Amino acid sequence: GFKMGIVGLPNVGKSTLFNALTKTAAAQAANFPFCTIEPNVGEVAVPDARLDKLAAAAGSKQIIPTRMTFVDIAGLVKGASKGEGLGNQFLANIREVDAIAHVLRCFEDSDVTHVEGRVDPVADAETIETELMLADLESIEKRRANLVRKLKGNDKEAQQQDRLLAAAQAAIEDSKPARTVEIDEDDAKAWKMLQLLTSKPVLYVCNVSESEAASGNALSEAVAKMAAAEGNSHVVISARIEEEISQLDADEAQMFLEEMGLEEPGLDRLIRAGYELLHLETYFTVGPKEARAWTIQAGTMAPQAAGVIHGDFEKGFIRAETIAFDDFVGCGGEQGAKEAGKMRSEGKSYTVKDGDVLHFLFNN
Ligand code: GDP
Repeated sequence: GFKMGIVGLPNVGKSTLFNALTKTAAAQAANFPFCTIEPNVGEVAVPDARLDKLAAAAGSKQIIPTRMTFVDIAGLVKGASKGEGLGNQFLANIREVDAIAHVLRCFEDSDVTHVEGRVDPVADAETIETELMLADLESIEKRRANLVRKLKGNDKEAQQQDRLLAAAQAAIEDSKPARTVEIDEDDAKAWKMLQLLTSKPVLYVCNVSESEAASGNALSEAVAKMAAAEGNSHVVISARIEEEISQLDADEAQMFLEEMGLEEPGLDRLIRAGYELLHLETYFTVGPKEARAWTIQAGTMAPQAAGVIHGDFEKGFIRAETIAFDDFVGCGGEQGAKEAGKMRSEGKSYTVKDGDVLHFLFNN
């Protein structure tokens, strides 16, 4: 599955957001830096209104959304790369995630201590990015030193790694994160394997006060500007509101949202933004038993998409019977779509599209 790491300075609202995301009752939020010492991992259902429609059309008994993993990564402070705070543990956790949700404090509250003694989300973003760049630099230098012997032996893989590390190093020495390096398709896999912290896409999460959840504020606007200039994305959210919503049942939550002038929970937007950031798409499997969503990266071919369900589906892949979402719902389910000639039989080279309803045929 795909993993988003939640990072940010202490006391910006990470735990509040994480708890809302995973609905863990035991809120670890406390007005104290480093209260979230253990990295917390939670799986979140990806909201998708299409699932309900598919289930209705097919009479499916159960709906199973696809999931995304969030990791609450505590301990990043100024100087983390030099081993202050919880530096190293933090770095190990963040290497494993696919993207970073960077929570920025955009709310004023004199009761909540800011580690730097002032509320300035753009400066906070720079503080964290600087720490991540320093950590990358250190690991790049170490790794390049370790490659020297292999390079002498003309090892092709080592040459590729060293070339990519050198490019990242040049960018960072120029005060630019590794994600600004342009990577050829041939290098994409090796680049990703380097797991550089600043090569990961970033989604800024502006945590605003309850009263500004719908409108945002001057601080979140400054973040929006910064994000746009960097080619990153951002969402405006009130972690406190999300925490409250997560404790309500569906009807109560709807009423609460309306009162707040919100169309949907901020978490839905956050999850969707993460999905977009990672270029993720959803396909469905639908039957009388269940309507289920599955996550793939955009551009995934049918056999690999099948592999998300089970490795055997990929190995023994024969073909995929395919109905587009609109056709499935428009024709009232699989039988209707079939009769209307909307079911296609696709082979190994088919690129799965977002919203496809798939039925895989495979050899055991
Ligand atoms: P973390 O250290 O980043 O995980 O931050 P927490 O989630 O533990 O939050 C730190 C403190 O800020 C807690 O007391 C939260 O209740 C408070 N907090 C979080 N979000 C908001 C908000 O939007 N407004 C206000 N006023 N306080 C918040």
